[in-house]
Amino acid sequence: MTHRTLLWYRNDLRVHDLTSLDEAVKQSADIIPCYCFDDRSFNKTSFGFPKTGNYRAKFLIESVADLRHSLQQLGSNLIVRRGLPEKIIPAIAEQLSIDQISYSQEVTSEETQVETKLKQALPPQIKLRSYWQSTLYLPEDLPFDIPQLPELFTNFRKQIEKKSTIQPSLHAPKKLPPLPEVELGEMPTLADLGLSEPEYDQRGVLQFRGGETEAIARLDNYFWQANCLKDYKQTRNGMLGANYSSKFSPWLALGCISPRYINDQVIKYETKRVKNNSTYWLIFELIWRDFFRFIVAKHGDRVFKLGGMQNIEIPWKTDWQRFDLWTKGETGYPLVDANMRELAATGFMSNRGRQNVASFLTKNLGINWIMGAEWFESLLIDYDVCSNWGNWNYTAGVGNDARGFRYFNITKQTKDYDPKGTYLRHWLPELANLPGDKIREPAKLSREEQQRYGVNIGVDYPRPVVDFFKSVKANEKMYQSAIG
Ligand SMILES: Cc1cc2nc3c(=O)[nH]c(=O)nc-3n(C[C@H](O)[C@H](O)[C@H](O)COP(=O)(O)OP(=O)(O)OC[C@H]3O[C@@H](n4cnc5c(N)ncnc54)[C@H](O)[C@@H]3O)c2cc1C
Repeated sequence: MTHRTLLWYRNDLRVHDLTSLDEAVKQSADIIPCYCFDDRSFNKTSFGFPKTGNYRAKFLIESVADLRHSLQQLGSNLIVRRGLPEKIIPAIAEQLSIDQISYSQEVTSEETQVETKLKQALPPQIKLRSYWQSTLYLPEDLPFDIPQLPELFTNFRKQIEKKSTIQPSLHAPKKLPPLPEVELGEMPTLADLGLSEPEYDQRGVLQFRGGETEAIARLDNYFWQANCLKDYKQTRNGMLGANYSSKFSPWLALGCISPRYINDQVIKYETKRVKNNSTYWLIFELIWRDFFRFIVAKHGDRVFKLGGMQNIEIPWKTDWQRFDLWTKGETGYPLVDANMRELAATGFMSNRGRQNVASFLTKNLGINWIMGAEWFESLLIDYDVCSNWGNWNYTAGVGNDARGFRYFNITKQTKDYDPKGTYLRHWLPELANLPGDKIREPAKLSREEQQRYGVNIGVDYPRPVVDFFKSVKANEKMYQSAIG
């Protein structure tokens, strides 16, 4: 008898390297792919920001549309619905006499609650089968169980590199069975989701477009055409332009590209072009991604709580006035401001930028890090629940960072990573006339210099919202008394 499997797509919007799809094909099952735009994802965060802002929503719509197109090319199609998966899927399962529902396993509570509700809503004869298919390493390949996962990244990495192997990726199927008679459903528009069309800002690093097709094309360009992988380790701390880093994150977050496919391509590159520190380093970074997923699976909801994974009670401030200055890029610290304006204008920010702005919010302004994490959740096109909340735990000093209170010296960071001020000039037009390193600390310009360069500090560009070292000291004191 032919099985009928409903393939419930979530953050795994691809046809390559998808074990759930591959197994259904091997079982010669009828395969019914389905995606639900979950209304809850378009609510507000606890601090009132749109949970999915328009940059990411646009990228998501493009990714789902691309998946539908790929499935059509294979002879199948994608059912698209809006609403709650725990209501929609049982109805489709009943209508189409489904025997099994296959889906990608998630690790965080909002996502696992949907799985539980779905389970409760289904009749017992329908089998639910989850697949772990978002990381380089699979849980069964790790040399430890998730509850015993090392708390520190380096220990995690060293052990897996020594004892585990990354399995090769699976090919996309060549053909899929056609869908039975069923209403396919229209793709929602941004307006349907209560959002406006974001304007494309030419200053952005890349014109990101969602979907597996674009993800593979980006890899092809970055590795094979532009030949950037060989220099990745030297360039990855950049902030300007398409190729300082891979920019794979938005596609990885929605599962448009599989990390194992990237790994296969790195191996191919190492064979055909060059094997060096840079080719290794991309995998090193992907191991960070794995680490955050596994560590969040270990700690569960603690990652979303103010005390973080380590449960440290720091008296954070809910200072909306300063928080607004941070979001708008008006703190008077050019590196922070340039990065925050980039995020607001494009939905993307480099890793270097993220580390600096998150450090500034928590270690200088002493503002509740959850406000920052939710702001990122709302705006980032590459928002990934584990990477975002894990990294925020880490920068706020409540995660598994062995170094305790660690802050970024913003001026020194600017000097090291934007020595000529090119990035600052790109995003801060009001300071563009300042020559050389004058742009790093505009508040130090004399009245004469301000006149010479045609900028009035305090009017055209803000004075620093806090004294850098005094604010670090005050926040460090609070941190030290919190950890006792
Ligand atoms: C406060 C903060 C919040 C962040 N939020 C997110 C998020 O929501 N989603 C997200 O994908 N990344 C997040 N990051 C990690 C990192 O900044 C981005 O993955 C990276 O900037 C994406 O650009 P890229 O793809 O060009 O990275 P590359 O440098 O090319 O790295 C390749 C891939 O490795 C992974 N990676 C690299 N660095 C990290 C890291 N520190 N943590 C986890 N994975 C990493 C990403 O999947 C990335 O695509 C955050 C970092 C910080 C400091």
